[in-house]
Amino acid sequence: MAIRTATKAEVGAEIVAAAETLFRNEVMSHTGHANLSGRISSQEMLLTIDGQVRNLTTDRLGVVNFDGTVLEGELDPTNAEIITMHSEIYKLRPEVGGIIHTHSPNLLAFALAQEELPCRYEALLRFGQASQVPVAAWAPRGSERSVSAIVDAVKQFPDTNAVILANHGVLVFGATPLAAASLLTVLEEAAEAELHARALGGAKDFPEGALDQVLASMARVRS
Ligand SMILES: [Zn+2]
Repeated sequence: MAIRTATKAEVGAEIVAAAETLFRNEVMSHTGHANLSGRISSQEMLLTIDGQVRNLTTDRLGVVNFDGTVLEGELDPTNAEIITMHSEIYKLRPEVGGIIHTHSPNLLAFALAQEELPCRYEALLRFGQASQVPVAAWAPRGSERSVSAIVDAVKQFPDTNAVILANHGVLVFGATPLAAASLLTVLEEAAEAELHARALGGAKDFPEGALDQVLASMARVRS
């Protein structure tokens, strides 16, 4: 899998568009807190400089090396804390080009309950989530223990493109920042529908082989 390289301007525009998408799709929590990043190269990412991404502009993004060095821009200390949460995913998953962390309300309910999100909504398959979303155990935000719990969850579920952060929120990744925003939107819908379905006796699993059938029909549309 080739590692994506893109210019700072391209990735910056994508991050701004991804943040707008999250607010437009109404998947943000009341605080508007999030952090977003986009890969520039095999070693560097563009990262939001603080946790407020409402009306985000490209001057509120900084260039950060995966070793943690801030190369351009001034990161708020609260965001310096979360660098490794992003950089470790880029190192682990060369195909990932965009990462978003939010406290999206329905996903947050799963985070507080420390419950994984099952994969039972067809849109999840289409937007790149073909496994349940695992839960990473809680540890203080940005701590080594917290990041290693996330890394362990991603290693344990190689098909997942998201991790629920126990008692905190969610981390979602994709080929680009916009792909991550689309997947996050669908995950928030899935979490909301799972909770509603409980009133009807609970959501049901897909039949065996559902993913293969969806992939085949997506391939037919593309060809
Ligand atoms: Zn957070």
